[in-house]
Amino acid sequence: MTAAVEFLNVSRHFGTVRAVDRVDLSIAEGSFFAMLGPSGSGKTTCLRLISGFEKPTAGTIRIFGEDMGEVPPNRRHVNTVFQDYALFPHMNVRDNVAYGLMVRGVDRRSRRDKAEEMLSLVKLDGFGDRKPAQLSGGQRQRVALARALVNEPRVLLLDEPLGALDLKLREAMQDELKALQRRLGITFVFVTHDQGEALSMADRVAVFNEGRIAQVGTPSEVYDRPATRFVADFVGSSNVLPPDLTRSFGGPECWASLRPEAIRFAPAAEARATGRVSALRYLGSGTRVALEAGGQEIAVLVPAGNPLPAVGDRAGLTWDSDALHLMEGA
Ligand code: ATP
Repeated sequence: MTAAVEFLNVSRHFGTVRAVDRVDLSIAEGSFFAMLGPSGSGKTTCLRLISGFEKPTAGTIRIFGEDMGEVPPNRRHVNTVFQDYALFPHMNVRDNVAYGLMVRGVDRRSRRDKAEEMLSLVKLDGFGDRKPAQLSGGQRQRVALARALVNEPRVLLLDEPLGALDLKLREAMQDELKALQRRLGITFVFVTHDQGEALSMADRVAVFNEGRIAQVGTPSEVYDRPATRFVADFVGSSNVLPPDLTRSFGGPECWASLRPEAIRFAPAAEARATGRVSALRYLGSGTRVALEAGGQEIAVLVPAGNPLPAVGDRAGLTWDSDALHLMEGA
């Protein structure tokens, strides 16, 4: 199958800043792909390279097999939804959505029909006559989405599109975006620094660090089998063990990660390690217990309803042997 988007050894440097550095990437057609990483790791620059607003300093970008070297943004079958939505405040919702069609010279009647169809798609039937200022944040987000979809892009780029929404709305929109992507079957490339968002929505996740991709994989691959310490730290809240601690925890002498939810309390005779409880943090769905073990803090996630130790207690810890994930070359 042809990839929707491919990066072949792509770099974008700004002077001495290596915003994107020798990135290879293949995004499958019809997939929901997340670019995850901390601020400044090169995610937005990658999106701009796909949309054509930025040109690579080296390397090749292909969209559906075609080299984008000389192809301008408006001929790439790609559209972007920005975090700030970039709606025109003086235009009503319908005209905002239909804007791309007007630019392409589509007649008034067809524009109106198509805009209404898109508004219906994002569950905003009947909102066409309102101005953006008369909408909630979530509704504005949907208008931005409808406006980007009206041109029937083959790839939709979303740059932190849920960043301005409160947590509850954000979660609702995550489900909706995912459902919309499934229904339309077009490729979504989604930028976020929120690991929960990337894991819950994406088919595949690329984890960015300092302009490079640290790992690409399914959400469970990057979560359960992080390739590097950076990925283990950034995706979820893993215990990252240095080689000497991995060894004292029963593994070989190399870096390893051990998820807080994989650790259980155990009687001393059955324990693989022991630690002294230093803090408890109630999380609602459970409690995060911090222990001091082997000179390092180890976190244990105890699901709600289970017995908890007290601060200062010595506690035995155990885990399934495959929970200790060894990281090569970290
Ligand atoms: P954020 O999550 O904060 O948006 P990001 O991962 O999207 O971050 P980019 O915006 O791609 O990161 O930026 C990557 C690096 O490139 C940063 O160090 C940034 O300062 C730099 N950079 C981006 N655009 C330019 C530019 N036009 N000129 C100079 N430096 C730039």
